[in-house]
Amino acid sequence: MFEPRDHVAAPAELAGRVIAITGASSGIGRAVALACARHQATVVLIGRDSAKLEALHGEMVAANSPEPSIALLDLEKAVAKDYDEIADAILERYGRLDGLLHNAGLLGVLAPIEHYDVPTWCRVLHVNLTAAFVLTQVLLPALKKSTDASVVFTASSVGRRGRAYWGAYAVSKFALEGLAQVLSEELEGISHVRVNTLNPGRARTAMRRQAYPAEDFSQVPLPETLTAAYMALLGPASHGVTGGAFDAQSPVRASSAADASSSGSSARSSS
Ligand code: NDP
Repeated sequence: MFEPRDHVAAPAELAGRVIAITGASSGIGRAVALACARHQATVVLIGRDSAKLEALHGEMVAANSPEPSIALLDLEKAVAKDYDEIADAILERYGRLDGLLHNAGLLGVLAPIEHYDVPTWCRVLHVNLTAAFVLTQVLLPALKKSTDASVVFTASSVGRRGRAYWGAYAVSKFALEGLAQVLSEELEGISHVRVNTLNPGRARTAMRRQAYPAEDFSQVPLPETLTAAYMALLGPASHGVTGGAFDAQSPVRASSAADASSSGSSARSSS
């Protein structure tokens, strides 16, 4: 059975692949971008903070990784033209896209539905769900030009089993699972694009600290330790695997944590 979290990527496993990552500027996205580059992918760093992205770009170049591109996109403010420009630039520069990781996310607030702030609800749904939908849609022509493309949506355990007070964040993650299922079926058999979701499990990032301010942060895994599953899902190891819901950490390890996942995978094999 395909189990991405156990994957050990070869040094040049992603060589020749062009992989776009949202939220590449910090946290998990930054760690995955660095891992992709280390495994020789050309990474398109998508984010809203040019200083952070420039620093990451410099780090990759200094490490002799393939030179990445930077695509500035604020998922809260972007309009159609901004999305189109990124899609055009990727097609013009690379002629295709082999991987798309939707990693950027917004926690919003932890509050009961009864009192959940409506503007915050709209922001969270927009950044976490609608922006990912639009970006996928505009990048599909480039993804379809790849012979082995992978789209990965970032999941959460609260988006697989609802939990009180997680509000718009949980609902947006449930919706991403649905989007991935619908899209994976639509693309199966008519393209080489596979679509899966990946729950990183708890990771030591700004979002985690916002959600669990009292937690002993030193006990939370660093994002750099969770990249194996991302390499597997974005690279050739997952060829033909689509419609699945995966976890970057083992359920045993994650079950002690508040962001534990109980879901397993039910991926189809399309080849
Ligand atoms: P971080 O807060 O460290 O990173 C979130 C990323 O999203 C940042 O790069 C941030 O950009 C970007 N982002 C937020 N809003 C926007 C916006 N409007 N436009 C563009 N980019 C934006 O969190 P994590 O690394 O923890 O989260 C990454 C993913 O993992 C998320 O989807 C999250 O839901 C998921 N996840 C995380 C878990 C954890 O324990 N950490 C557990 C389960 C799921 P900027 O750097 O500019 O702020």
